[in-house]
Amino acid sequence: MFNITGTLINYYIHCKTQCWLHANRINLEDNSEEVRIGKALHEISEDRVSEVAFENIKLDKITKDYVVEVKKSDSDLESAKLQLLYYLYILKQKGIEKKGRLEVFEKNRQNKKRFEVVLDEESEGKLQEILADIKELISLPKPPEPKYESKCRKCAYFEYCFI
Ligand code: SF4
Repeated sequence: MFNITGTLINYYIHCKTQCWLHANRINLEDNSEEVRIGKALHEISEDRVSEVAFENIKLDKITKDYVVEVKKSDSDLESAKLQLLYYLYILKQKGIEKKGRLEVFEKNRQNKKRFEVVLDEESEGKLQEILADIKELISLPKPPEPKYESKCRKCAYFEYCFI
């Protein structure tokens, strides 16, 4: 069984086709400007310490009270929050309980917005349902049919899906 990663959760919210393709190892290099900006922001986040990686997840930063995830825009807050919840959930399984903080850079890259994410009973229940759905989705023999939406233009799978 494919290990669920934060990226996979993000893709599940973004697009089920993308989630299936990534889970089934059909990975395309994404050199879009969006991705390059995202990588650059990770590098300049001023108070960032080294990424923390364990098992199949990578945390941008972990402090005494928080797991911090850095995002380049607030265009996909739902998936970013869910991704962070998943990290909190995995840590909780290991006996480490923390809150989550999502740091989103605004367009001018000078300011950032912060959102607190808490793994409570309700959010954990919702997360477990989504994890079960993801396992079912990625076990399907083929990906869901792609449906064109404006977000597809910025997706690494655009040519795969539509050209
Ligand atoms: S191009 Fe569109 S349909 Fe295809 S994987 Fe990307 S977001 Fe999904």
